Amino acid sequence: MLHTSYIELSKSALKNNLRFLQKHINENTRYSMVIKANAYGHGIEDILPMIEDFGVNHFSVFSAVEAMRANRIKQDKCDIMIMGWISDESMEWAIEHDISFYVFTIDRLKAACEASKKVGKPAKIHIEIETGMHRTGFCREELETVVDVIKNNRKCLEIEGICTHYAGAESINNYNRIQSQIKTFHELCSWVNDHGIHPKYRHTACSAALLIYPETAMDLVRIGISNYGFWPSNEIRMNKIINEYNNQDPLLRVLSWKSEVMSVKTVDEGKYVSYGTSFLTNRKTKIATVPVGYGYGYSRNLSNLGHVLIHGKRVSVIGAVNMNMMVVDATDITDIKEGDEVVLIGNQGDNTITVSSFSDMSNSLNYELLTRLPNHIPRYIVY
Ligand SMILES: *Cc1c(COP(=O)(O)O)cnc(C)c1O
Repeated sequence: MLHTSYIELSKSALKNNLRFLQKHINENTRYSMVIKANAYGHGIEDILPMIEDFGVNHFSVFSAVEAMRANRIKQDKCDIMIMGWISDESMEWAIEHDISFYVFTIDRLKAACEASKKVGKPAKIHIEIETGMHRTGFCREELETVVDVIKNNRKCLEIEGICTHYAGAESINNYNRIQSQIKTFHELCSWVNDHGIHPKYRHTACSAALLIYPETAMDLVRIGISNYGFWPSNEIRMNKIINEYNNQDPLLRVLSWKSEVMSVKTVDEGKYVSYGTSFLTNRKTKIATVPVGYGYGYSRNLSNLGHVLIHGKRVSVIGAVNMNMMVVDATDITDIKEGDEVVLIGNQGDNTITVSSFSDMSNSLNYELLTRLPNHIPRYIVY
């Protein structure tokens, strides 16, 4: 092992999840795989070609930089959509490469027209509608201007989509808010249509929306977290697994994270381990170090809380997680030695360390933990 840890990506799990999610849409709905934030920490360059092999040809990213990475490796017939940040300069690049992008302010709409004139090709835009999330998007009053600008620049703009995002479809607490957003979206779509503008795709659904409110699928869905094998929330997980799938999780985790034992030694009873005084041995303790710390995405919040698997057994992280390493209590693993496999996330023997178990302990969401996994950790594709 040259690096201090590595990530394995399961191609069969990715396919399993895709096929499961595709059952929730009909043949008229296009599937867009969301690969923002380095494909939720999995790695854009690894995930994109794999999912292309399974027939997906639409990718959603947050920024122009991510779009550039995806564009470099995608096959010709793939479409890329930028859902967030794009500067005026990058707009020209996007137009040249047929990459569509969200527009949510009048200034950006005008900038898109300008960029299109410079490039000599229409900009493919998605009109983002404010339906109640109150983040980005045009409200009803601004739409009048949007319609005027579009009508006056017909040659510059191709209206690829009209879209919105839900403010927490993963929690039943937000039920009324989501229902109101769905209603507003349909009203504003009709309004735009009545004013002579006919976007190609109406799209609103993320993973949670698709799973809980299937009517939100419309012409295109933007699916991230569930395709990587995670439920958007525990609530949806319970609802689906228990009520519909007889306690069998239909989603499989794509990512495992592994390292190996760097050293083993024994510490007497009554000694502090690692920096500071947060862990005092209460017995003669065999400690093992693992060369992964917060500098590699293993949260410092997991000090004295995290677990890893060695020889198929769950052992505790003791003391503070350091920048480059952590210490685990290996007293109960009799024949542990340097070089033994350590699983930080994933399976070993009959045991599993899940990302959500971390999240419970350190109070951060699945999404957050995954996206903190550095891109410099090597990725290997396994079946
Ligand atoms: C991240 C994102 C998605 C995907 O959400 P998941 O919960 O990961 O499926 C969809 N739409 C927008 C606008 C997003 O930012």
